[in-house]
Amino acid sequence: MNTLLLIFLFLPGPSFSQDKVTAAGQRPIAVRIYSQYKFSSINLDPEGAILHIGERLLTGRGRITARGQSVSLDSNIKTGGAKIEATAYGNGVWLSGKGLSRRLYRGKIIFSAQSGRLKIINSIPLETYLAGVVSGEVGDLSRTEAYKAQAVAARTYTITHMYNHRKDGYNMCDSAHCQFYSGHGNILPKAQEAVDTTRGQVLYYRGSPADTFYHSACGGHTAEMTSVWPFEHRPYLVPVRDGPAGTPYCSIAPGFHWKTKIYLTGLTRLSRSAGWISAGEEATGLRISAWGVSGRAEKLEIYTQVRRVSISATEFYHGIGRRAGWQAVRSTFFRIYTGKDYVILEGAGSGHGVGMCQWGAEGMARKGFDYRAILLHYYPGTELVDE
Ligand SMILES: [Zn+2]
Ligand SMILES: [Zn+2]
Repeated sequence: MNTLLLIFLFLPGPSFSQDKVTAAGQRPIAVRIYSQYKFSSINLDPEGAILHIGERLLTGRGRITARGQSVSLDSNIKTGGAKIEATAYGNGVWLSGKGLSRRLYRGKIIFSAQSGRLKIINSIPLETYLAGVVSGEVGDLSRTEAYKAQAVAARTYTITHMYNHRKDGYNMCDSAHCQFYSGHGNILPKAQEAVDTTRGQVLYYRGSPADTFYHSACGGHTAEMTSVWPFEHRPYLVPVRDGPAGTPYCSIAPGFHWKTKIYLTGLTRLSRSAGWISAGEEATGLRISAWGVSGRAEKLEIYTQVRRVSISATEFYHGIGRRAGWQAVRSTFFRIYTGKDYVILEGAGSGHGVGMCQWGAEGMARKGFDYRAILLHYYPGTELVDE
């Protein structure tokens, strides 16, 4: 994209304003960035691009620090107060800091403080945000049609989840809680192209944008929404067989089949830390007590010396993921084998399994399906609408 066009895209004006109605692509979205980090200062490096702080131009590097409920900027411009508003034209501004990855952001960036910690909101047009999201989400895939399916799924998901953080004063955070977004330092040409060629296209179900959840690899069968979120149901988030039984579309995913050995001592530690068993109890076994329609484990029982504790497989998956990393137990699509002082979980796929399977989309694209067919396969009953 040439610089002139970028400058045009990032001109401040009505398109950045939260309360004005704008064309779909220019609809602004406010994303809290570095949302998973706790920090009190950050470095700004415009690196040749143009960065405005209010009406003034930042000519070199700067540093923004939070103190109490206010922020201050140390640079050629000395300013501070309840918030500092920066606008990055052209290439954008690099942000970095202790313990923070260096990332490039465009558009409006608003710095404020909460009890001595920095809170940063990046406000950008929806389509610009999507190029960042798609680059981060499917960087390992190769097929254009898979990128396009991801672009439509992410656009629709953004629209239906716009109010995830309404009470916090922004639309979405940049973590898996909402959608991964790590700025514009690594935009993949394929992702940009997929966003551009599907511009404004949204998946609808009966007149409203659909709740287009997606995940890495379903393992052969996508999951019913209710198996992950027990009180939620969407007619298009139902189990879908992901291609031929022996070789599902997503079987091309790296680490599709996985096997994890968990010693009972480790299971004890984990179960105590998660509050599933009490401090005096030892885990002596683990078994699946109920299966979902898609073949996933739905309920598990942890055995101790004195009782059996029942937990949902989703809770177990999240509990392990948060404590031991998401690579240990990658999905709830597993069997359990019991050894002397350990259990082995043998499974397939990774992620919650609801909605579009990203590696399955890649597999379908390799077999010649276009992005419309891919989307209708994972979200049956929906339709693609040009907004
Ligand atoms: Zn969030
Ligand atoms: Zn799949």
